[in-house]
Amino acid sequence: MKHDRRLVEVALGNRSYPIHIGRGLLQDAALIRESVPARQVMIISNETVAPLYLAALKTALGERRITAVSLPDGEQEKCLESMLPVFDEMLVNGFGRDCQVVALGGGVIGDLAGFVAATYQRGVNFVQIPTTLLAMVDSSVGGKTGVNHPRGKNMIGAFHQPRAVIADLEVLGTLPDRELRAGMAEVVKYALLGDREFLDWLDGHVDAALAREPDALAFIVERCCRNKAAIVAADEREAGQRALLNLGHTFGHAIEAARGYGDWLHGEAIAAGMCMAACLSARQGWISREERDRAVDLIGRVGLPTSPPTDLGAERFREFMARDKKNRDGELRLVLLRGLGDAVVTADYDEAALTATLEGEAD
Ligand code: NAD
Repeated sequence: MKHDRRLVEVALGNRSYPIHIGRGLLQDAALIRESVPARQVMIISNETVAPLYLAALKTALGERRITAVSLPDGEQEKCLESMLPVFDEMLVNGFGRDCQVVALGGGVIGDLAGFVAATYQRGVNFVQIPTTLLAMVDSSVGGKTGVNHPRGKNMIGAFHQPRAVIADLEVLGTLPDRELRAGMAEVVKYALLGDREFLDWLDGHVDAALAREPDALAFIVERCCRNKAAIVAADEREAGQRALLNLGHTFGHAIEAARGYGDWLHGEAIAAGMCMAACLSARQGWISREERDRAVDLIGRVGLPTSPPTDLGAERFREFMARDKKNRDGELRLVLLRGLGDAVVTADYDEAALTATLEGEAD
């Protein structure tokens, strides 16, 4: 039986592209060949994902000059040094500007492969095949590519849109539970920042999502991609509303950086960060305590952290948050909630309320 398929378009003029969502897409040779028409293909994956899905992708691609690079697993691999062996392979194998790069993996591989594609011979075409929930709902869409620098996360990068995104929901079957939950943090993010109806739906379907029910996952990935596609189409380079996608991220990045990447997963740090944003918004009187509790409760039901690490403290938080890319003229700007499903980027918050939130104080 042919399963339900969904298609979301990212509307960016002549750089528009489709997001294909469905089950068994990796086996769909027609779709894969249409999305990756080049004769020379560089597949970038990692040592966890490649053994699971690389063979299927190669079969679907058929007769091509395919080179595959499999990097070690982990956020620490998202660095300039990991790109060099990929460029070597491309040059040694005579890859021209008409080649294509395919990212097969989670957000780490997608960000790095996208940046390889953005920079190889000043930019070649690429396709995202995201294999984590986080990558399907967030990182594979929108064209932000890049790597980390020892002095900061995602500090080196480029905007480079893919030609297509292929989200095969079947691959989520092998994703560890903790990674699925971490991906759900970004899912809740879309609901809180701008989709109240989705928030209502999530309230009733968290358990179905965590049980990986196919219909629930398909609905979630489609809904999040629609939300992200709309924001990216309106503000591709983050001059304005795209910054709303950073809900929970200023606090979350500080937690990740302070803890050393890998201790808290990105999604876990973002979850705590969103709860902090909700708490500060409630302290400001912008949302009610009931609304704050509803947001925190949903995040807790996903099995994600709802408060910052107790030993971090306001001073260290501020130190890390001072490096945030949203800051202007040294002013710390935060994404806060004017209501559930209504986020704003603002520097208009009470300093004492922020300190109390950073200290994790109960009100
Ligand atoms: P990840 O890429 O590290 O993947 C998480 C883990 O799951 C890894 O161990 C990976 O090997 C494994 N894995 C992946 N797919 C699997 C599968 N189908 N089955 C079994 N295991 C699988 O992490 P992530 O959460 O996908 O992405 C996080 C990264 O995404 C961060 O670097 C973050 O900065 C970036 N990000 C980028 C954007 C963007 O707009 N570009 C947005 C959000 C996050």
